[in-house]
Parts: sequence; C-alpha cells; structure tokens
Amino acid sequence: MIAEKLSEVKSNLPQGVTLVAVSKTKPNEDILAAYEAGQRIFGENRVQELVDKYEALPKDIEWHMIGHLQTKKVKYIAPFVSLIHGVDSFKLLEEINKRAKKEERTIDVLLQFHIAQEQSKYGFDFDEAKTMLESQEFTQLENINVRGVMGMATFTENEEKIQDEFRTLNNYFEIFRSHFFKFNKSFEIISMGMSGDYKIAIEEGSNMVRIGSTIFGSRN
Ligand SMILES: *Cc1c(COP(=O)(O)O)cnc(C)c1O
Repeated sequence: MIAEKLSEVKSNLPQGVTLVAVSKTKPNEDILAAYEAGQRIFGENRVQELVDKYEALPKDIEWHMIGHLQTKKVKYIAPFVSLIHGVDSFKLLEEINKRAKKEERTIDVLLQFHIAQEQSKYGFDFDEAKTMLESQEFTQLENINVRGVMGMATFTENEEKIQDEFRTLNNYFEIFRSHFFKFNKSFEIISMGMSGDYKIAIEEGSNMVRIGSTIFGSRN
C-alpha cells in the first residue's frame, strides 16, 4: 500500500523536485516500507520522535526537521539532521550554528516565511529576514548553510489564494538569491507543497515537496 502510494506520488513529480516523505506519527514499519521502495528522505516535526526514529532506522536515511524547532532542543538533532526547514529567528540560527560547531559539521537550513493568512503559522516576514541577512552577526555564522526557503500556504479550498501565497514565497526566494546568495550556488531550495497543495506549489516553482498523508494515510 505505502509502496504503491509512494510510486503514485513520485509519478506526479517532475524531474528536479525532491520528495520529503513526512512520516510524523507513523510507526517505524511504515517508514521501512517506504525505505524498501527506495525512499531515503523523511520529514518529522517533533524532536523526540525524530531522535527515536533516527536511532532505530537505517543510517543512510536523510532526516529533515520540518516542524517548529525550540532553541533548547537543537542539541538533540545537531549530530545527524540533514536539513532544518523551519528556521524563523536569528536566535535559533545562532543556536544551530553553535551546536553544529560543537559537532564539527555544517548544518543546512531553510528560512521559513510566513506566507499564510493564519496567525498560528511560524515564519519570518520579508523585512525581518532582510534585516537579518544584512547584519554583521549573520555573516559570522560559519557552521550553517542557508539552502533556501520554506513556507506553508493557508489551509483553504481557494486555489487562487494558495497560488498567490506560493508565488509570494518564490518571489522572496528570487530576491534573496540575487541580493544575498549570488555567489552561493547551494542557495537553491524552495520547500513548499504538502498533500493537499503540492501540485499548485510545483506550478509555482517548488523544488521540494513535503508529503505525508497521501503516502502514509491520514493521521489521528
Ligand atoms: C505534516 C506536515 C506536512 C505534511 O502534511 P500532509 O498534509 O500530511 O502531506 C508538510 N509540512 C509540514 C511542515 C508538516 O508539519
């Protein structure tokens, strides 16, 4: 079942779009089913669950932290996490840098932007991120690599609105790329699109989609 769903989703993704299989709340055997079907990138949104799964499952899995990350919990995932999608403050970025340095590695991150209407969604707004990227303090962070941007659209049936929000994120990406990352070719990721809206996201330029329920079934 999982293998079938996975291959169905993959058949909808154009070349160059990376699939993050979102396995939050799902048991290890579900992850292994996707792993055996060839999937290697998995996304989780809780630190403890991410650590437990990392310890139990094959070591060639790339683990993405896609949820809101509290500063005090960075240390638990710093040794192994491949990409942190939800960076939404300088304070968090500083902590990731500090923990990465301790582990003698560089940690890849995405800047999360608040593009949705809902109050509850985390993320920078454009000016906040710009101010941070312009700051002296930002340039001193040597153990993080900002790989791109991430965002979540409003949960709505209104496709035009979703399209609009994804378009906004793509615009931010292009502006930041040309102003701050012109010489950093690894600033290249636009993480947007989930089960309900990934087709729209891809039309609007997404190259990384985070899909859970379509692959693993709905969550309780
Ligand atoms: C849960 C989650 C997803 C996946 O959602 P589905 O609707 O199950 O595909 C994607 N991104 C984030 C940040 C999530 O928390």
